[in-house]
Amino acid sequence: MRDPTSFLAQEYQQLVESELDWRLHVLEGPSTPWCEVDGKKVLMFCSNNYLGLSNHPALKQAAIEAVRTHGVGSGSVRPIAGTMDLHVELEQRLARFKGAGASLVYQSGFATNAGLIPQLVGDGDLVISDELNHGSIIDGVRLSKAERAVYRHGDVPDLERVLDEAERHQPSYRRVLVITDGVFSMDGDIAPLDRIAAAAAKHGAMVYVDDAHGEGVLGEGGRGIVSHFHLGRNQVHVEMGTFSKAFGVVGGHISGSQALRDFAFNKSRTWLLSGSHPPPVAAACIAAIDVLEQEPQHVQTLWRHTERFKKAMRQLGFDIGHSETPITPVIVGESSVAKRLSQRLFELGVFALPIVFPMVAKDKARIRTIMNAALTPEDVDVAIAAFEKAGRELRLI
Ligand SMILES: *Cc1c(COP(=O)(O)O)cnc(C)c1O
Repeated sequence: MRDPTSFLAQEYQQLVESELDWRLHVLEGPSTPWCEVDGKKVLMFCSNNYLGLSNHPALKQAAIEAVRTHGVGSGSVRPIAGTMDLHVELEQRLARFKGAGASLVYQSGFATNAGLIPQLVGDGDLVISDELNHGSIIDGVRLSKAERAVYRHGDVPDLERVLDEAERHQPSYRRVLVITDGVFSMDGDIAPLDRIAAAAAKHGAMVYVDDAHGEGVLGEGGRGIVSHFHLGRNQVHVEMGTFSKAFGVVGGHISGSQALRDFAFNKSRTWLLSGSHPPPVAAACIAAIDVLEQEPQHVQTLWRHTERFKKAMRQLGFDIGHSETPITPVIVGESSVAKRLSQRLFELGVFALPIVFPMVAKDKARIRTIMNAALTPEDVDVAIAAFEKAGRELRLI
């Protein structure tokens, strides 16, 4: 009899042969600037823990305390018996931090996009995406019955072309949603959200921004891209983000009007049908907001390190693309070269992974570095020296 699961090993083998399989690297201990990866002490240069908050004493203490007072699990989904005072407090604190009417916390950023987008637009609607939007947005859009259109990456005239066409569409669309990443995770460039919002406003379209890589990085005190561009809540209707990156914990969230919150939690199936965060998660997220409000130095240090790194890398002659944020791609071309460079950096004590096709174009393989405020300037110099040595060996500079 034929084994009905034989495709599992076959398809995996195909991935291995085309070098598209993931080989997991294991952190033995916390995600700190110097950490132990696969048994070797290395400088962490590819974590999303931008501000080092995943090991901040205030967050750890808050989590421990919440386990003592509330236990390790919530026992239910939010709408039944899984809304604790900690969840309510977190949403109120987040809304205040963002200067929004209300916020809602989801289990993850992925669950937010997958749960909310198909509720905002459906049959008779149009959703318009930047071509480089994150996979969780793509999946959220796929779950929607709305028609789809894509505009060229960051290209507002092209977005306007799509909006003009949408306006002429017969029968008229019921609703139009424009959706974009705030900071694009492969190149580190910032969406022109001010101009996107202006274009959308002209056509009466909603604007949804996924600010996963902008929070804790952009805007006043790390408040994110909406703050960065000084936009109002009537210009950006859904500000989405995650606690899993600069906030150092886990969990997705949206901020906007009270009407958005009421709508979103009554309709998002990922929110309604999946268990709520354990108390230590909610408490640590609250503590992360405290830290951002009370310790502005972390965001400042992040940017100082970023400038130090970019300047040195450019002087060395590396192609670091057109990043405007602490994500700095080091573009090398062939995927085999990116893999060799990553391997050599690891031997030299720097952990930064290659990003290759199909995540980026075939000839744009790169090492994606992400800066961290918990590093010292000397650590940043260690990384620069490793890039210089490996780059010369591989004749990249
Ligand atoms: C990481 C990321 C997500 C997913 O967030 P999680 O909370 O980790 O699920 C969504 N969108 C973008 C742009 C991201 O970078």
